[in-house]
Amino acid sequence: MGLAIAYQLALEGCRPVLLEADDRLGGMAASFDFAGVAIERYYHFHCLSDTAFFQLLEELNLQHLLRWKQTAMGFFLDGRLYPWGSASSVLKLRRLPLLSRVRYLLHAARCLSLSDWRHLDGIRATEWLNTWLGRQGYEVLWAKLFAYKFYQYTDSLSAAWIWSRIRRIGRSRRWLKETLGYLEGGSERWIGAIESRIRELGGEIRLSSPVHAIEHSDQGARITSPQGSEHFDAVISTVPLPLVAPMLRRGGHDPALIEAYEAQQSVACACVVLQTKQPITANFWTNVNDSRFAIPGIIEMSNLQPISPHITYVPFYMPADHPDYSRTNEAFIADSIACLKAINPELNDRDILASQCSRYRYAQPVCGTHFLDSLPPLNPIANVWIADTTVYYPEDRGISESVGFGRDLARQVAAGLQ
Ligand SMILES: Cc1cc2nc3c(=O)[nH]c(=O)nc-3n(C[C@H](O)[C@H](O)[C@H](O)COP(=O)(O)OP(=O)(O)OC[C@H]3O[C@@H](n4cnc5c(N)ncnc54)[C@H](O)[C@@H]3O)c2cc1C
Repeated sequence: MGLAIAYQLALEGCRPVLLEADDRLGGMAASFDFAGVAIERYYHFHCLSDTAFFQLLEELNLQHLLRWKQTAMGFFLDGRLYPWGSASSVLKLRRLPLLSRVRYLLHAARCLSLSDWRHLDGIRATEWLNTWLGRQGYEVLWAKLFAYKFYQYTDSLSAAWIWSRIRRIGRSRRWLKETLGYLEGGSERWIGAIESRIRELGGEIRLSSPVHAIEHSDQGARITSPQGSEHFDAVISTVPLPLVAPMLRRGGHDPALIEAYEAQQSVACACVVLQTKQPITANFWTNVNDSRFAIPGIIEMSNLQPISPHITYVPFYMPADHPDYSRTNEAFIADSIACLKAINPELNDRDILASQCSRYRYAQPVCGTHFLDSLPPLNPIANVWIADTTVYYPEDRGISESVGFGRDLARQVAAGLQ
């Protein structure tokens, strides 16, 4: 979002300065060198509805690198791998009564036909799914996915948020077949291209520059970073909302406002990525419901994007104060390998070529019921705008949503400055 804002501000004739705390650009979409292959720390795919992202790719002359593929889904349920994701695979899941399977499909159809989501904002996701699927259907198909991502927050999530997630994937179909996209070369391609374009247009980018404080000042705002205190005409923050609270506190702002940022909940992610000699399954996405593993699913990136050796991501989402989050990276990697071996018993230790575990503290906002009412204002202080991935609720966090929202915001801010 920060990159998209800086790019748009530069297009509007401003001279943006982007301050990034990390030693690389991209945030959740950043890449690393994984045994000689540049890949993302966290898996990314694109949906057919990602129009703001496609528009950006065109402007960066990268649209020819976008690829689409029909992908398969699976469900690893109590030690057995089932096909999943299509109407026929749901109907064939004999592990559930026929009525539950039909209810699941009716709910999926309802998610696709619904467009006004406002009444779902005040309903709990678990209650909504239980009503549609029945208790047994919910327990088998959803309960573990929620429990191993949101833990104590499971029962507070809003139905609007889960609806938008189901709809996004459900709509990414061609000829009724799930069709997902990737950018050849990964997110690094567009991040490198937008970085160059910002610089060409006169913008400045500073890495390893964490912002410590945001202060109000006449006709603008002041930012404190390792480079000292600087005045800007306008400040737009795109860091996760809870991280804004200490910046505002150091800037001497209203404690009630600071509290509103602190109150936003988010779960962390310890994301394991493994290189193996062979695929685990033929699926891109395999949901996991197995009492041996605290894992909601695995994502085999190489079954979408031709990356060799085979790449599989195993995300462990959990609140950062959960005792398991302090486990070592090696422990998460060992659990991941055990899970992959359970899914594919032919996999052995010699097939594991490399492993890595990356952590992101604010990986997934918890969007509770009446979420919009809980969000602090976008422009809480004169000349200061504060956004993160929650601002486009009920859409879930996503590259396209962050790019689209960020560019619109930059247009508004630039117009106000002229
Ligand atoms: C496991 C996982 C899987 C995902 N899968 C997908 C997917 O398949 N498709 C998709 O579209 N999206 C996916 N996403 C989400 C996507 O990566 C994000 O929505 C997108 O990158 C949003 O970026 P953002 O700029 O809004 O936020 P972020 O990426 O969180 O960026 C915030 C930036 O602020 C920086 N920062 C923090 N504190 C400071 C400070 N004090 N000063 C300066 N800078 C600071 C951070 O270093 C970071 O670079 C996934 C995310 C995760 C974690």
